[in-house]
Amino acid sequence: MKFAERMNRLGTESAFEVFARAKELEAQGKSVVHLEIGQPDFPTPVNICNAAFQAMKDGYTGYAPAAGILEFREVIAQQIAQTRGVRVHPDEVAVTPGAKPILFFTILALVDAGDEVIYPNPGFPIYESVIRFAGAKAVPLPLLEEVDFRFRMDDLIDAISDRTQLLILNSPQNPTGGLLTAEDLEEIAYLANKHNFYVLSDEIYSRILYEGKHQSIISFPGMKERTILLDGHSKTYAMTGWRLGYSIAPQPITEQIVRLMINSNSCTCSFTQIAGMEALLGSQDAVDRMVAEFRQRRDAIVNGLNAIAGIDCLKPTGAFYVFPNVTKLSLPCDAFANYLLTEAGVAVLSGTAFGEFGKGYLRLSYANSLENIQEALKRIQIAVDKL
Ligand code: PLP
Repeated sequence: MKFAERMNRLGTESAFEVFARAKELEAQGKSVVHLEIGQPDFPTPVNICNAAFQAMKDGYTGYAPAAGILEFREVIAQQIAQTRGVRVHPDEVAVTPGAKPILFFTILALVDAGDEVIYPNPGFPIYESVIRFAGAKAVPLPLLEEVDFRFRMDDLIDAISDRTQLLILNSPQNPTGGLLTAEDLEEIAYLANKHNFYVLSDEIYSRILYEGKHQSIISFPGMKERTILLDGHSKTYAMTGWRLGYSIAPQPITEQIVRLMINSNSCTCSFTQIAGMEALLGSQDAVDRMVAEFRQRRDAIVNGLNAIAGIDCLKPTGAFYVFPNVTKLSLPCDAFANYLLTEAGVAVLSGTAFGEFGKGYLRLSYANSLENIQEALKRIQIAVDKL
Protein backbone atom coordinates (compact mmCIF):
# COMPACT_ATOMS: atom_id res chain seq x y z
CA MET A 1 0.00 0.00 0.00
CA LYS A 2 1.32 3.45 -0.82
CA PHE A 3 1.16 6.16 1.82
CA ALA A 4 2.02 9.82 1.62
CA GLU A 5 5.74 10.45 2.09
CA ARG A 6 5.08 12.61 5.15
CA MET A 7 3.79 9.58 7.07
CA ASN A 8 7.36 8.25 7.15
CA ARG A 9 8.23 11.23 9.30
CA LEU A 10 5.46 10.74 11.84
CA GLY A 11 6.48 8.94 15.03
CA THR A 12 4.37 7.43 17.77
CA GLU A 13 4.02 7.19 21.52
CA SER A 14 5.30 3.83 22.69
CA ALA A 15 3.32 4.03 25.95
CA PHE A 16 0.26 3.02 23.94
CA GLU A 17 2.16 0.16 22.26
CA VAL A 18 3.53 -1.22 25.53
CA PHE A 19 0.07 -0.85 27.07
CA ALA A 20 -1.36 -2.96 24.22
CA ARG A 21 1.35 -5.63 24.68
CA ALA A 22 0.73 -5.70 28.42
CA LYS A 23 -3.00 -6.14 27.77
CA GLU A 24 -2.23 -9.08 25.45
CA LEU A 25 -0.17 -10.75 28.19
CA GLU A 26 -3.04 -10.20 30.62
CA ALA A 27 -5.44 -11.77 28.12
CA GLN A 28 -3.16 -14.84 28.19
CA GLY A 29 -3.64 -14.99 31.95
CA LYS A 30 -0.41 -13.25 33.06
CA SER A 31 -0.43 -10.68 35.84
CA VAL A 32 0.98 -7.28 34.86
CA VAL A 33 1.49 -4.18 37.01
CA HIS A 34 0.96 -1.14 34.79
CA LEU A 35 3.60 1.54 35.27
CA GLU A 36 3.77 2.51 31.60
CA ILE A 37 0.82 4.77 31.01
CA GLY A 38 0.68 8.43 32.03
CA GLN A 39 -2.80 8.79 33.35
CA PRO A 40 -4.05 9.37 36.88
CA ASP A 41 -5.73 6.24 38.24
CA PHE A 42 -8.31 8.35 40.12
CA PRO A 43 -11.87 8.84 38.87
CA THR A 44 -12.81 12.29 37.61
CA PRO A 45 -14.14 14.26 40.64
CA VAL A 46 -17.89 13.84 41.03
CA ASN A 47 -18.75 17.57 40.83
CA ILE A 48 -17.20 17.62 37.33
CA CYS A 49 -19.15 14.53 36.21
CA ASN A 50 -22.37 16.03 37.57
CA ALA A 51 -21.73 19.28 35.68
CA ALA A 52 -21.38 17.23 32.47
CA PHE A 53 -24.65 15.33 33.11
CA GLN A 54 -26.45 18.60 33.79
CA ALA A 55 -24.94 20.25 30.70
CA MET A 56 -26.20 17.37 28.54
CA LYS A 57 -29.68 17.78 30.03
CA ASP A 58 -29.43 21.54 29.41
CA GLY A 59 -28.81 20.92 25.71
CA TYR A 60 -25.02 21.37 25.42
CA THR A 61 -24.94 18.58 22.86
CA GLY A 62 -24.40 20.43 19.59
CA TYR A 63 -21.47 22.19 17.96
CA ALA A 64 -19.68 24.80 20.04
CA PRO A 65 -17.65 27.74 18.70
CA ALA A 66 -14.40 26.44 17.17
CA ALA A 67 -12.31 28.49 19.63
CA GLY A 68 -14.30 27.18 22.60
CA ILE A 69 -17.36 28.38 24.54
CA LEU A 70 -16.81 32.05 25.42
CA GLU A 71 -17.65 31.67 29.15
CA PHE A 72 -15.14 28.83 29.43
CA ARG A 73 -12.47 30.88 27.65
CA GLU A 74 -13.19 33.77 30.04
CA VAL A 75 -12.70 31.48 33.04
CA ILE A 76 -9.45 30.10 31.59
CA ALA A 77 -8.22 33.67 30.90
CA GLN A 78 -8.95 34.64 34.53
CA GLN A 79 -7.24 31.54 35.90
CA ILE A 80 -4.13 32.08 33.81
CA ALA A 81 -4.07 35.73 34.89
CA GLN A 82 -4.14 34.60 38.54
CA THR A 83 -1.67 31.74 38.26
CA ARG A 84 0.82 33.24 35.78
CA GLY A 85 0.41 36.93 36.57
CA VAL A 86 -0.32 38.09 33.01
CA ARG A 87 -3.41 39.73 31.53
CA VAL A 88 -5.17 37.38 29.13
CA HIS A 89 -8.04 38.23 26.78
CA PRO A 90 -10.50 35.40 25.93
CA ASP A 91 -9.53 35.90 22.25
CA GLU A 92 -6.08 34.67 23.22
CA VAL A 93 -7.53 31.36 24.43
CA ALA A 94 -8.27 28.34 22.21
CA VAL A 95 -9.93 25.20 23.58
CA THR A 96 -9.08 21.84 21.98
CA PRO A 97 -9.97 18.15 22.47
CA GLY A 98 -7.06 17.34 24.79
CA ALA A 99 -3.83 19.30 24.92
CA LYS A 100 -2.11 17.31 22.17
CA PRO A 101 -3.77 19.24 19.32
CA ILE A 102 -2.17 22.42 20.70
CA LEU A 103 1.26 20.89 20.03
CA PHE A 104 0.23 19.79 16.58
CA PHE A 105 -1.48 23.04 15.60
CA THR A 106 1.23 25.32 17.00
CA ILE A 107 3.94 23.54 15.06
CA LEU A 108 1.85 23.40 11.87
CA ALA A 109 1.00 27.09 12.18
CA LEU A 110 4.47 28.43 13.00
CA VAL A 111 7.05 26.14 11.51
CA ASP A 112 8.08 25.83 7.84
CA ALA A 113 10.11 23.09 6.21
CA GLY A 114 13.75 23.90 6.92
CA ASP A 115 13.02 25.80 10.13
CA GLU A 116 14.56 24.52 13.33
CA VAL A 117 12.71 23.61 16.51
CA ILE A 118 14.60 22.95 19.74
CA TYR A 119 12.94 20.40 22.00
CA PRO A 120 13.77 18.65 25.29
CA ASN A 121 15.31 15.19 24.96
CA PRO A 122 14.38 12.94 26.70
CA GLY A 123 10.94 14.42 26.16
CA PHE A 124 7.34 13.75 25.23
CA PRO A 125 7.78 11.83 21.95
CA ILE A 126 5.08 13.76 20.14
CA TYR A 127 7.33 16.86 20.00
CA GLU A 128 9.95 15.27 17.75
CA SER A 129 7.29 13.43 15.77
CA VAL A 130 5.33 16.56 14.86
CA ILE A 131 8.41 18.70 14.23
CA ARG A 132 9.61 16.14 11.69
CA PHE A 133 6.12 15.74 10.24
CA ALA A 134 6.12 19.49 9.55
CA GLY A 135 9.38 19.04 7.62
CA ALA A 136 11.37 21.04 10.14
CA LYS A 137 14.69 20.13 11.73
CA ALA A 138 14.28 18.70 15.24
CA VAL A 139 17.17 19.96 17.39
CA PRO A 140 17.43 18.00 20.66
CA LEU A 141 18.24 19.80 23.90
CA PRO A 142 19.73 17.20 26.27
CA LEU A 143 18.23 16.99 29.75
CA LEU A 144 20.87 15.75 32.13
CA GLU A 145 20.62 13.78 35.35
CA GLU A 146 23.58 15.67 36.83
CA VAL A 147 21.58 18.92 36.70
CA ASP A 148 18.36 17.32 38.00
CA PHE A 149 17.14 16.70 34.48
CA ARG A 150 17.31 20.34 33.47
CA PHE A 151 19.43 21.40 30.48
CA ARG A 152 22.68 23.30 30.49
CA MET A 153 22.18 26.85 29.28
CA ASP A 154 25.32 26.51 27.12
CA ASP A 155 23.67 23.62 25.29
CA LEU A 156 20.66 25.82 24.56
CA ILE A 157 22.89 28.64 23.34
CA ASP A 158 24.72 26.18 21.07
CA ALA A 159 21.43 24.83 19.72
CA ILE A 160 20.12 28.26 18.67
CA SER A 161 20.71 29.25 15.05
CA ASP A 162 19.27 31.85 12.71
CA ARG A 163 16.76 29.18 11.59
CA THR A 164 15.44 28.63 15.14
CA GLN A 165 11.73 29.35 15.02
CA LEU A 166 10.50 27.64 18.16
CA LEU A 167 11.73 26.27 21.48
CA ILE A 168 9.61 23.70 23.31
CA LEU A 169 9.71 23.70 27.11
CA ASN A 170 8.02 21.24 29.43
CA SER A 171 8.09 21.89 33.17
CA PRO A 172 7.22 19.88 35.26
CA GLN A 173 8.61 17.43 32.77
CA ASN A 174 7.60 14.13 31.21
CA PRO A 175 9.45 11.70 31.46
CA THR A 176 11.90 12.87 34.14
CA GLY A 177 9.72 14.79 36.60
CA GLY A 178 12.32 17.59 36.39
CA LEU A 179 11.58 21.27 36.81
CA LEU A 180 13.06 24.43 35.30
CA THR A 181 14.10 27.09 37.81
CA ALA A 182 13.17 30.79 37.75
CA GLU A 183 16.79 31.52 36.77
CA ASP A 184 16.51 29.11 33.83
CA LEU A 185 13.30 30.78 32.68
CA GLU A 186 14.79 34.25 32.99
CA GLU A 187 17.72 33.27 30.82
CA ILE A 188 15.51 31.51 28.27
CA ALA A 189 13.34 34.65 28.06
CA TYR A 190 16.45 36.73 27.40
CA LEU A 191 17.53 34.35 24.62
CA ALA A 192 14.06 34.18 23.05
CA ASN A 193 13.86 37.97 22.90
CA LYS A 194 17.43 38.31 21.65
CA HIS A 195 17.13 35.66 18.93
CA ASN A 196 13.48 36.28 18.16
CA PHE A 197 12.00 32.81 18.50
CA TYR A 198 8.71 31.55 19.91
CA VAL A 199 8.36 29.33 22.98
CA LEU A 200 5.80 26.56 23.25
CA SER A 201 5.50 26.03 26.99
CA ASP A 202 3.90 22.68 27.81
CA GLU A 203 2.52 23.14 31.32
CA ILE A 204 0.18 20.13 31.40
CA TYR A 205 1.72 19.08 34.76
CA SER A 206 1.64 22.59 36.28
CA ARG A 207 -0.55 21.51 39.20
CA ILE A 208 1.26 18.27 39.95
CA LEU A 209 4.08 19.81 41.89
CA TYR A 210 5.61 18.72 45.23
CA GLU A 211 7.76 21.74 46.06
CA GLY A 212 7.46 25.47 45.45
CA LYS A 213 5.10 27.25 43.10
CA HIS A 214 4.67 26.68 39.40
CA GLN A 215 6.56 29.21 37.28
CA SER A 216 5.81 29.93 33.66
CA ILE A 217 7.95 31.50 30.95
CA ILE A 218 4.91 33.59 29.94
CA SER A 219 5.35 35.68 33.11
CA PHE A 220 8.79 36.96 32.07
CA PRO A 221 9.36 40.31 30.33
CA GLY A 222 8.55 40.29 26.62
CA MET A 223 7.36 36.67 26.69
CA LYS A 224 3.59 37.10 26.53
CA GLU A 225 4.07 38.13 22.88
CA ARG A 226 6.09 35.05 21.97
CA THR A 227 4.71 32.26 24.17
CA ILE A 228 2.17 29.59 23.35
CA LEU A 229 1.19 28.21 26.74
CA LEU A 230 -0.34 24.73 26.71
CA ASP A 231 -2.34 23.39 29.64
CA GLY A 232 -5.42 21.26 30.12
CA HIS A 233 -7.56 19.11 32.35
CA SER A 234 -6.25 15.61 31.54
CA LYS A 235 -3.74 15.26 34.36
CA THR A 236 -4.88 17.83 36.93
CA TYR A 237 -8.51 16.68 37.09
CA ALA A 238 -8.05 13.02 36.07
CA MET A 239 -9.88 13.72 32.80
CA THR A 240 -7.63 12.03 30.22
CA GLY A 241 -10.52 10.42 28.35
CA TRP A 242 -12.68 13.54 28.25
CA ARG A 243 -10.22 15.28 25.92
CA LEU A 244 -9.91 18.85 27.12
CA GLY A 245 -6.95 21.16 26.66
CA TYR A 246 -6.27 24.78 25.81
CA SER A 247 -3.70 27.30 24.69
CA ILE A 248 -2.91 30.87 25.61
CA ALA A 249 -1.19 32.63 22.71
CA PRO A 250 -1.10 36.02 21.01
CA GLN A 251 -4.36 36.58 19.14
CA PRO A 252 -2.91 36.12 15.59
CA ILE A 253 -1.50 32.72 16.60
CA THR A 254 -4.75 31.79 18.35
CA GLU A 255 -6.59 32.60 15.09
CA GLN A 256 -4.39 30.11 13.24
CA ILE A 257 -4.98 27.45 15.91
CA VAL A 258 -8.73 28.02 15.58
CA ARG A 259 -8.48 27.75 11.78
CA LEU A 260 -6.77 24.39 12.22
CA MET A 261 -9.57 23.40 14.63
CA ILE A 262 -12.16 24.29 11.99
CA ASN A 263 -10.29 22.14 9.48
CA SER A 264 -9.98 19.13 11.80
CA ASN A 265 -12.24 18.78 14.84
CA SER A 266 -14.71 21.66 14.24
CA CYS A 267 -14.94 22.16 17.99
CA THR A 268 -14.37 20.60 21.38
CA CYS A 269 -17.30 18.67 22.90
CA SER A 270 -19.77 21.21 24.35
CA PHE A 271 -20.76 19.47 27.60
CA THR A 272 -17.10 18.62 28.28
CA GLN A 273 -16.33 22.34 28.22
CA ILE A 274 -19.12 23.09 30.72
CA ALA A 275 -17.72 20.34 32.96
CA GLY A 276 -14.26 21.82 32.43
CA MET A 277 -15.55 25.16 33.70
CA GLU A 278 -16.81 23.46 36.89
CA ALA A 279 -13.37 21.85 37.26
CA LEU A 280 -11.72 25.28 37.31
CA LEU A 281 -14.34 27.08 39.43
CA GLY A 282 -15.41 24.32 41.84
CA SER A 283 -13.64 22.89 44.89
CA GLN A 284 -9.98 22.01 44.33
CA ASP A 285 -9.92 19.54 47.25
CA ALA A 286 -9.82 16.53 44.92
CA VAL A 287 -6.73 17.94 43.18
CA ASP A 288 -5.01 18.50 46.53
CA ARG A 289 -5.86 14.94 47.58
CA MET A 290 -4.50 13.49 44.33
CA VAL A 291 -1.26 15.44 44.60
CA ALA A 292 -0.84 14.35 48.26
CA GLU A 293 -1.35 10.73 47.19
CA PHE A 294 1.10 11.10 44.28
CA ARG A 295 3.69 12.47 46.71
CA GLN A 296 3.43 9.37 48.94
CA ARG A 297 3.75 7.12 45.91
CA ARG A 298 6.72 9.10 44.61
CA ASP A 299 8.52 8.65 47.92
CA ALA A 300 7.73 4.93 47.97
CA ILE A 301 8.88 4.28 44.40
CA VAL A 302 12.06 6.39 44.69
CA ASN A 303 13.07 4.68 47.96
CA GLY A 304 12.15 1.25 46.62
CA LEU A 305 14.11 1.67 43.38
CA ASN A 306 17.17 3.06 45.14
CA ALA A 307 17.17 0.00 47.41
CA ILE A 308 17.74 -2.23 44.35
CA ALA A 309 21.43 -2.67 43.52
CA GLY A 310 22.23 -1.26 40.08
CA ILE A 311 19.31 1.21 39.95
CA ASP A 312 19.72 4.90 40.86
CA CYS A 313 16.69 7.16 40.97
CA LEU A 314 16.49 10.92 41.53
CA LYS A 315 13.52 12.25 43.49
CA PRO A 316 11.43 14.28 41.02
CA THR A 317 9.72 17.53 41.98
CA GLY A 318 6.73 17.31 39.68
CA ALA A 319 4.51 15.19 37.40
CA PHE A 320 4.00 11.49 38.23
CA TYR A 321 7.02 9.82 36.66
CA VAL A 322 10.41 8.61 37.83
CA PHE A 323 13.32 8.19 35.45
CA PRO A 324 15.81 5.82 37.09
CA ASN A 325 19.30 5.26 35.73
CA VAL A 326 19.82 1.57 34.94
CA THR A 327 23.22 1.76 33.24
CA LYS A 328 24.85 -0.33 36.01
CA LEU A 329 22.69 -3.33 35.08
CA SER A 330 23.90 -5.92 32.60
CA LEU A 331 21.07 -5.33 30.09
CA PRO A 332 20.60 -2.20 27.94
CA CYS A 333 17.51 -0.20 28.97
CA ASP A 334 15.33 -1.38 26.04
CA ALA A 335 16.08 -5.03 26.72
CA PHE A 336 15.61 -4.50 30.46
CA ALA A 337 12.18 -2.87 29.94
CA ASN A 338 11.21 -5.79 27.72
CA TYR A 339 12.54 -8.30 30.27
CA LEU A 340 10.55 -6.65 33.06
CA LEU A 341 7.34 -6.93 31.03
CA THR A 342 7.74 -10.49 29.83
CA GLU A 343 9.56 -12.07 32.78
CA ALA A 344 8.46 -10.02 35.77
CA GLY A 345 5.04 -8.73 34.73
CA VAL A 346 5.91 -5.05 35.20
CA ALA A 347 5.13 -2.72 32.30
CA VAL A 348 7.55 0.22 32.10
CA LEU A 349 8.96 2.26 29.23
CA SER A 350 12.53 2.34 28.03
CA GLY A 351 14.12 5.79 28.27
CA THR A 352 14.83 5.60 24.55
CA ALA A 353 11.09 5.92 23.91
CA PHE A 354 11.69 9.58 24.83
CA GLY A 355 14.65 10.20 22.53
CA GLU A 356 18.32 9.42 22.21
CA PHE A 357 19.26 11.12 25.49
CA GLY A 358 16.91 8.78 27.35
CA LYS A 359 19.32 5.91 26.76
CA GLY A 360 20.29 4.19 30.00
CA TYR A 361 17.04 5.02 31.80
CA LEU A 362 13.53 3.70 32.34
CA ARG A 363 10.34 5.66 32.80
CA LEU A 364 7.94 4.44 35.44
CA SER A 365 4.62 6.15 35.97
CA TYR A 366 3.51 6.09 39.60
CA ALA A 367 -0.09 6.84 38.70
CA ASN A 368 -0.96 3.51 40.26
CA SER A 369 -1.90 2.45 43.81
CA LEU A 370 0.75 2.16 46.55
CA GLU A 371 -0.10 -1.52 46.79
CA ASN A 372 0.60 -2.08 43.07
CA ILE A 373 3.78 0.00 43.28
CA GLN A 374 5.03 -2.16 46.17
CA GLU A 375 4.20 -5.29 44.18
CA ALA A 376 6.06 -3.90 41.14
CA LEU A 377 9.11 -3.09 43.28
CA LYS A 378 9.14 -6.64 44.65
CA ARG A 379 8.96 -8.06 41.13
CA ILE A 380 11.72 -5.75 39.84
CA GLN A 381 13.99 -6.76 42.74
CA ILE A 382 13.50 -10.47 41.96
CA ALA A 383 14.04 -9.86 38.23
CA VAL A 384 17.28 -7.91 38.86
CA ASP A 385 18.55 -10.66 41.20
CA LYS A 386 18.13 -13.14 38.34
CA LEU A 387 20.21 -11.13 35.84
N1 PLP B 1 2.20 17.10 27.07
C1 PLP B 1 2.79 16.17 27.83
C2 PLP B 1 4.16 16.44 28.34
C3 PLP B 1 2.13 14.98 28.15
O1 PLP B 1 2.75 14.07 28.92
C4 PLP B 1 0.84 14.76 27.63
C5 PLP B 1 0.13 13.49 27.88
O2 PLP B 1 0.68 12.48 28.21
C6 PLP B 1 0.27 15.75 26.82
C7 PLP B 1 0.97 16.91 26.57
C8 PLP B 1 -1.07 15.56 26.19
O3 PLP B 1 -2.14 15.69 27.06
P1 PLP B 1 -3.62 15.37 26.59
O4 PLP B 1 -3.94 14.00 27.05
O5 PLP B 1 -4.47 16.42 27.25
O6 PLP B 1 -3.69 15.48 25.10
